[in-house]
Amino acid sequence: METSRVVKTFLEYVQISSESRWEAAFSQRLAEDLQQIGLTVETDDSADKVKANTGNLYAFLPGEADLEPILLCAHMDTVPPGQGIHPVIEDGIIRSASDTILGSDDKSGAAAIVEALREIVQQKLPHRPVEVVFTICEEVGLLGAKYLDYSRLRAKKAVVFDNEGDVGTIVNQAPGHVEISATITGRAAHAGVAPEEGISAIQVAAEAVSQMQLLRIDAETTANIGTFFAAGPNNIVPETVRLAAEVRSLDPQKLKRQCRQIAGALQTACQKYGASLQYSEEPSYSGYQIAETDPLIQQLKDCLRALDYPVRLCATGGGSDANILNQNGIQAVVVGTGMEKIHTVSEYITLQNLERTKAFTMALIQK
Ligand SMILES: [Zn+2]
Repeated sequence: METSRVVKTFLEYVQISSESRWEAAFSQRLAEDLQQIGLTVETDDSADKVKANTGNLYAFLPGEADLEPILLCAHMDTVPPGQGIHPVIEDGIIRSASDTILGSDDKSGAAAIVEALREIVQQKLPHRPVEVVFTICEEVGLLGAKYLDYSRLRAKKAVVFDNEGDVGTIVNQAPGHVEISATITGRAAHAGVAPEEGISAIQVAAEAVSQMQLLRIDAETTANIGTFFAAGPNNIVPETVRLAAEVRSLDPQKLKRQCRQIAGALQTACQKYGASLQYSEEPSYSGYQIAETDPLIQQLKDCLRALDYPVRLCATGGGSDANILNQNGIQAVVVGTGMEKIHTVSEYITLQNLERTKAFTMALIQK
């Protein structure tokens, strides 16, 4: 079988290293491709803000004036190990040959967007006005999307190509996410000579944690402690413990309630032992839920059905650029491109999913 354009482009894209904060070379290539197709291209000033070597890339293709503009989005960065990627095709599946990721997260999205636009323009097919945003630093806290200049975007609806699952997967629900950090300060004392004068921060923290609801709270809510840190010699009652935790929920009320439960357990234990507590919560992004009956979801479904691809609506437990877009007034869903086992060296994607992502994108643009 002859290698199709989208596959060829994808293979070239994954060979341009673009680990987070080092997206410039890949951004340059995308800008060239988009310009060649006929889009206007700009880079913003987010590079300095997040200490990356380039900013987010914006592109625009004017379309039929009576059609609603659409924003197509993918991220340019990859997780490590993402340098010197050597893709190989075997039985219709693309993998990396060596000890690296493949980079289908998210270059499958980028290749599909570029090649869909190329074909639409080459064939002179009527289409919607199309905005494209390729973000930096998605993998390190959605930083590019957080520093996007939303005032320059005209589309109110977006499709983010950045999920596992075959083409046809539509993520219409994603959780909000809060980072918690807490420091418990007890009192140091000689553990052998005068332990009764000390307050063991480890004991306090352990009691607090034992009273916390953690892991799967309900179908919509999760909580996890990632750090429980204390270090000291065995002959000193430990003075400090540092905890870091996260809470996620599809329901903003439950998100708050779960954070309060964790804060409450810490306060109660600290009071009981006379330790002091420093506590902070940092919302990293809001969740979103878009009804199955919403026109955006209906549009996506219509395109998929016209192509005869099965539709699967689902919720995710993770965050993506779509969370930040929704937070900033652009209705956004994430769709599956067929990327699988992402963030591992076993990452792969099928040729069929690459072709289908491109066909789906073409249908969206023409809708
Ligand atoms: Zn991704």
